[in-house]
Amino acid sequence: MVIALDKHKKPIGFVTEKRARQLMESHRACIYRTYPTVIIIMDRDVREFTNVPTYRIKIDPGSKYTGIAIVCNETNEVVMMLQLEHRGENIVELLQTRSAARKNRRNRETPYRRSKWANGSNGSRPSKERKMPPSIKSIGDNVIRIVEKLKRFIRITECSFESTRFDTQLMDNPDISGEEYQHGTLFGYELREYLMEYYRHTCQYCGGKSEDSVLEWEHIIPKSRGGSDSVRNATLSCCSCNRDKGALTPNEWLKQLKEKTPGCKKDGELTQTRITHLESILSNGKVYGSNRYAAWSNILRKYEEKALFEIFGNVECSTGGRTKYNREMILHTSKDHHYDALAIGSISESGFTDRTKGYVLYIKAMGRGNRMRGHINQCGIITDKWTDRRKRFNGLQTGDIVHVTIPSGKYEGTYTGRLMIRKSGSHDIRTLDGKLVTGTKKSIYKIMQHADGYNYKYEKAE
Ligand SMILES: [Zn+2]
Repeated sequence: MVIALDKHKKPIGFVTEKRARQLMESHRACIYRTYPTVIIIMDRDVREFTNVPTYRIKIDPGSKYTGIAIVCNETNEVVMMLQLEHRGENIVELLQTRSAARKNRRNRETPYRRSKWANGSNGSRPSKERKMPPSIKSIGDNVIRIVEKLKRFIRITECSFESTRFDTQLMDNPDISGEEYQHGTLFGYELREYLMEYYRHTCQYCGGKSEDSVLEWEHIIPKSRGGSDSVRNATLSCCSCNRDKGALTPNEWLKQLKEKTPGCKKDGELTQTRITHLESILSNGKVYGSNRYAAWSNILRKYEEKALFEIFGNVECSTGGRTKYNREMILHTSKDHHYDALAIGSISESGFTDRTKGYVLYIKAMGRGNRMRGHINQCGIITDKWTDRRKRFNGLQTGDIVHVTIPSGKYEGTYTGRLMIRKSGSHDIRTLDGKLVTGTKKSIYKIMQHADGYNYKYEKAE
């Protein structure tokens, strides 16, 4: 479905792709924005309408992905589904690099000067004001920014939000929780969700190498071999690793993997990764896992809930248990972030009519460049000459989504994708299917979407 605005850019509702195309062909409409697709119908005025449809936005928060679904209040139709990918982890990495480089620089250049910041390191008291860490704030602000953007184009009057959280205390100390909780119905659900957050949606055996996107709750020591359902015996694995491991204990599987002769190069790489990860699991228990993400998730829910209350005035807060019930009993959809969002809150027994044809708008937070004046080497020393402060060259900027025609050379042809600017004038383009092409100086660029810190693509979900 395509978002439609009237001639004063006021929201009217949605039209089908076919109708939008017809309107454009008869010159009654024009494109206002490509991602999400918004058209202006130039001979329409919303004040002439007797009833304008209103919509409900449903948000499933998360520390890596946020699912968003928009449904029509009157017709119970799903008109739009989005998936937002955050960059919290990326920010943590960048800040750590910066901090290390600064510390190094200070030690080299001004070792005897008293420290300048009141962060407690020089005997001063740290600031009492509680600030949100930039990594988490970025995630919360992404959601709010996207919701506000959508609200400009769509008449959204209601909001549903999943505001439950994990009990990290219970998860961390299974001993204190007792038998009752261990075997409670909630436990299975909470544990699965917790594993997803804890292990960052990544298979613990292959680290995502098997390219299997189905993730499962995996018993490290299989149940058939006396393994328990407790958190200590649980990890996250993809379906193919789980199947490959079968009813073997980690030690047995490791032995089997080491004896295996790979069929092809890719197979060999996968086996090698599994061996490395297994050895690390056997020696210290974890590969990627961290409680950080579960904690992030808890902080984020509060932050986003508060902001949504300010935007909509009233928010329907729901629980994870209800989402699961709705998804499995009423909607029968896969466990994807946008479907999860759809299942939030109270929904009618008949479910929804899907008008999206399975197309999901994937939005990825990319950042808006950096402020670094030069490149630093591994020791934190600036090596290159100063970088250019300008972001725009010939009206183009890194992050613009462009349609480019390359007239000659190795990459001759037309492409659509995200632009990466080069001062020389031959810019790089990352196409939708991930290919990197380099344009020549004579390439013709047509901007489809100006850079706004996000990368967008429409894709059909399986
Ligand atoms: Zn795997």
